[in-house]
Amino acid sequence: MNLGKKAILSLALLSLIGFSARGLWEGEDVFVLGNIKAAPGEVRSGYLDVPEKDGIKTAIPITIIRGAKKGKVLALVAAVHGAEYPPVLALYRIKDQVDPKKLSGTLVLVHIANLPSFQKRTIYYNPFDWKNLNRVFPGDPNGTLSQRMAYVLNEEIVKKCDYLLDLHCGDANEALIPYSYWMISDKKSTDAKTKDMALAFGLRHIIIDTTRTKDPKDSKYLGNTAILQGKPAITTESGFLGRTDEESIARNVKGILSVMKLLKMIEGTPDFVPDPVWIDRYEVVNSKYDGLFYPQVEMGAMVAQGQTVGVVKDYFGNVKEDVKAPFAGVILYFIGTPPANKGEPLFEVGRILLEGNPSPGFPSNARFALCQPSEEHLAMYLKGGYSWKETLLRGFLPTLASLAANLPMSIIR
Ligand SMILES: [Zn+2]
Repeated sequence: MNLGKKAILSLALLSLIGFSARGLWEGEDVFVLGNIKAAPGEVRSGYLDVPEKDGIKTAIPITIIRGAKKGKVLALVAAVHGAEYPPVLALYRIKDQVDPKKLSGTLVLVHIANLPSFQKRTIYYNPFDWKNLNRVFPGDPNGTLSQRMAYVLNEEIVKKCDYLLDLHCGDANEALIPYSYWMISDKKSTDAKTKDMALAFGLRHIIIDTTRTKDPKDSKYLGNTAILQGKPAITTESGFLGRTDEESIARNVKGILSVMKLLKMIEGTPDFVPDPVWIDRYEVVNSKYDGLFYPQVEMGAMVAQGQTVGVVKDYFGNVKEDVKAPFAGVILYFIGTPPANKGEPLFEVGRILLEGNPSPGFPSNARFALCQPSEEHLAMYLKGGYSWKETLLRGFLPTLASLAANLPMSIIR
């Protein structure tokens, strides 16, 4: 064999190797995030790098569970706020429980989205730029650390998934009851899917959230960022006060598995929450003063309009403000540790929807569920100042009409 022939053969061999390498790593069955690659049936973990700027960098630990069968890509994101632990612990259980051989589609586990905050044990903020990661989406590759983290999460997670669960809980200072945000978009088809996801996740209180920005360049929140790109997403809250209680972890695991069933990634039927409590208005009440907060309600309390939820005192123990509920509803969370900071939350109150089940797209395989306020809830609402006519119009007549028609009520806005 002369040199020319050898060279041609070598070239042919090289191109063959090159072709097969490309086939192996870049074929459509291999799922790639950053430099982490998972072929069907594989579980692969690694870091998504957040590039350095001004001497600061970080990385995001993730796992790809690539099912042996085709299906949807579901992203599960924990610890966008670094002191929210039950979702983090739930994802490790999911990693252990989900068998890639039996999985249809791909699970992307973002174990700890905000590693700097997790490591430094900060609430709300990233300790390097003091920004709230869940307010800076879709991020900026040339911005501060939080903005660069948001950029990487958007490019690698949001853009490459079909569905997303943004798993939060009460931050280390928040006494919170479980609830989820059903974020209303401009698309009814997306809203129907996100509603099913919220019902499947199984948290009883569901906020019908019409307040999120519709500007994709300033989407602010991770879940909203996904929705604005046509990726159905919900934000869930289960866990409180920096604790790692079994109930909160288990609720996250159950919710994730139920959504996976909804998306037909694993076998079984989703556990739709049978008796959802819809919340059609919510408000986070912020502190006007620096000082200490003394809550005067229990977790999940029902409050009347104008009822004192807590008291803010200054650093000398003098009362600065009696903080009252702006409207009647349920206390979704309150600050359960003393620091009160001007401009930061003291509590969140949600108004319970009395009219019944909101449209669109109530899942046909879920039990027909009207929102039935308890006597106690109703009494509170009556205290809130509805006239008997309003009460009749808002509560009983639509409920009766809906029952008669045996159809879900449309939401009255
Ligand atoms: Zn959070």
